[in-house]
Amino acid sequence: MERYDIAVIGTGPAGLEAAITAKVRNKSVLLLGNKGSSDKVSKAHTIQNYLGLPNVSGEDMAKAFLDHAKGMGIEITEDKVNAVYSMGQYFAIQCHGGDYEASSVIVAAGMSAMKPFAGEMENLGRGVSYCATCDAALYKGRTAIIVAYDAEDEEEAEFLAERAEKVYYLPQYDYAGNLGGNIEVSVDVKPSSIAYNDGVATLETDKGTFKADGIFILRQQIAPSQLVPGLQMDGNHIGVDRSMATNIKGLFACGDITGAPYQYIKAAGEGNVAALSAVSYLAELKKAQN
Ligand SMILES: Cc1cc2nc3c(=O)[nH]c(=O)nc-3n(C[C@H](O)[C@H](O)[C@H](O)COP(=O)(O)OP(=O)(O)OC[C@H]3O[C@@H](n4cnc5c(N)ncnc54)[C@H](O)[C@@H]3O)c2cc1C
Repeated sequence: MERYDIAVIGTGPAGLEAAITAKVRNKSVLLLGNKGSSDKVSKAHTIQNYLGLPNVSGEDMAKAFLDHAKGMGIEITEDKVNAVYSMGQYFAIQCHGGDYEASSVIVAAGMSAMKPFAGEMENLGRGVSYCATCDAALYKGRTAIIVAYDAEDEEEAEFLAERAEKVYYLPQYDYAGNLGGNIEVSVDVKPSSIAYNDGVATLETDKGTFKADGIFILRQQIAPSQLVPGLQMDGNHIGVDRSMATNIKGLFACGDITGAPYQYIKAAGEGNVAALSAVSYLAELKKAQN
């Protein structure tokens, strides 16, 4: 079986940038993910804060990323990784479509919505978003619903409420905050499904129906520890140092999966660092083997 120098899991900005940097450094790269990049890229409405691509649509940004990778001869292997096992000198990567080997691995799998609400994925990028800070500018004089899973989200709600006319805040945690003004907090409300019709987003819950221009779901869920046994976590994220190294030698992580802020440029920047760190690790490994 071919053993790649670096396997990259994920084809969002973090994974694509990691693959490009690894390729620039003449490494053999296995890039696993989705040929269309990431839904979080391609389904975004308008992106205003990516350097060099002002006011780009998510679709155009995904195309720019993919064209860049393709132009450098990087192929995407469309497959889903089930598990990554450290075998000492290399990693065994178990996928839906087959098994692979690589000397080092970069996990760039993003934050997964573990159990999306009915209608959530269909309306992602239309009535549904995962980033209130990113989309706040689009909510001037409009209304929004926030389904929040962490007290940290209250800051995001306040930021959105500076622009929006009204924000309905539905905490899914023990709320002890003091949000007020144009933020209406409803505790103990369990969302069940989402619909988006004629510009109106509707959230059905066990306490009735909420309607607004858009719904933000600020989930913190991810289970990368299931993907890589033995991986040290930092809350819901993979614990990394400044070189994007995890506790497992030769395994690096980058992008949303390492924690907030959830931003394209941060993800891409970390992808670059992770790849350079993997290259250094491979050099050390080679020295140790000789
Ligand atoms: C609607 C929307 C609008 C946004 N707007 C902005 C904005 O304006 N500005 C901004 O900076 N940020 C914005 N964001 C945030 C931004 O999308 C994320 O920060 C960014 O996409 C994170 O990149 P990533 O590469 O870490 O992860 P992702 O983009 O989530 O990519 C993860 C990749 O990993 C793959 N993957 C996951 N699990 C596996 C597996 N087991 N095997 C193989 N592949 C796997 C996925 O298919 C995907 O390709 C927005 C997000 C959304 C949803």
